[in-house]
Amino acid sequence: MADYKITLLKGDGIGPEIVNQAVKVLDKAAEKFDFTVEYDEALLGGCAIDATGVPLPDETVAKCKASDSVLLGAVGGPKWDNQPGNNRPEAGLLGIRGALGLFANLRPSVIFGPLKSASPIKDEIIGGNLDIMIVRELTGGIYFGKKGRTEVDGNPAAWDTEMYSVPEVERIARVAFDLAMKRNKKLTSVDKANVLESSRLWRETVIRISEEYPEVELNHMYVDNAAMQLVRNPQQFDVIVTSNIFGDILSDEASMIAGSIGMLASASLSGGKLGLYEPIHGSAPDIAGQNIANPLATILSVSMMLRYSLSQPQAADAIENAVAKVLETHRTPDIYEDGFTKVGTEEMGDLVCAAL
Ligand code: NAD
Repeated sequence: MADYKITLLKGDGIGPEIVNQAVKVLDKAAEKFDFTVEYDEALLGGCAIDATGVPLPDETVAKCKASDSVLLGAVGGPKWDNQPGNNRPEAGLLGIRGALGLFANLRPSVIFGPLKSASPIKDEIIGGNLDIMIVRELTGGIYFGKKGRTEVDGNPAAWDTEMYSVPEVERIARVAFDLAMKRNKKLTSVDKANVLESSRLWRETVIRISEEYPEVELNHMYVDNAAMQLVRNPQQFDVIVTSNIFGDILSDEASMIAGSIGMLASASLSGGKLGLYEPIHGSAPDIAGQNIANPLATILSVSMMLRYSLSQPQAADAIENAVAKVLETHRTPDIYEDGFTKVGTEEMGDLVCAAL
């Protein structure tokens, strides 16, 4: 029987409420699939600032490193808005990603059948169920390149640098090819190789790595076309791999196709087993403590954890099926429609456990 150690970073706002539901579901999955989970909690974000003065205490990094995986709620809120930039709750988030070497961000854009009407895209374009995985490089590119202010022709000017090294592209490409192998064996690499030298190196490298994965069908797309194709014909995509800045933009676009922010999970991986799993939404301070937050994005983050870090794909499938089943009858207020039963955060967690 496998034993796993999970660090919980509940964070701020709705973070604790939604993580508590996800833990309930993980415990139920452990019981059903015969593994055990041991939890440790650590501070991140605003709650860490209140307790220790900094958003990412050293103890938090140590606990995360000593675990098999990390489950994060969300951080931030108006209480800490006046903190200096490097001591804001969000700085803790960037810090933990860096400290754990999380270079690959996985954002699935999935439409559960019963939630099709939440998508702004027409039914006939979505087709059956939509399931796209965007793999975004997370620690390189223009967000981390050299930047500065200068003067051009006597006018103030500013510059940023997009740079990728071959090993950086190789490792993110392998993550994407590995994922494609576990899915429909189709990978789209998105770049701007008609204009950018860094994109030409990106494309050459992805093509070279593709030789290690002869079963995966690889195609390339310019980012402007990819932005268009995501709303024109999203069904053509299985896995998409792209740079930090392009992935930032495309993954938000893809999440809107899925419709509801309360439903979307994400994973950040380091290449090893350790991953950090979290919903894509923030700490929603406007609804915190009211038992109305949708816990499903966090519950689905647990299913990603089971699939990508803990090698429990059957438990992951079971959680996803349980969520789909509950959505046929019950909804939290953010995804509520006439004809369904409206439930709160706790009750939604209980329903998913019962469906498991
Ligand atoms: P947000 O995602 O917290 O909220 C946006 C809107 O979506 C709000 O109306 C909120 O009520 C709603 N919402 C979000 N999650 C929901 C859920 N699970 N169920 C139901 N409704 C939900 O974004 P924001 O308002 O821009 O930011 C609030 C705080 O969160 C800020 O301090 C921001 O910096 C922080 N933030 C943190 C993360 C993170 O921890 N990864 C990400 C984004 C924003």
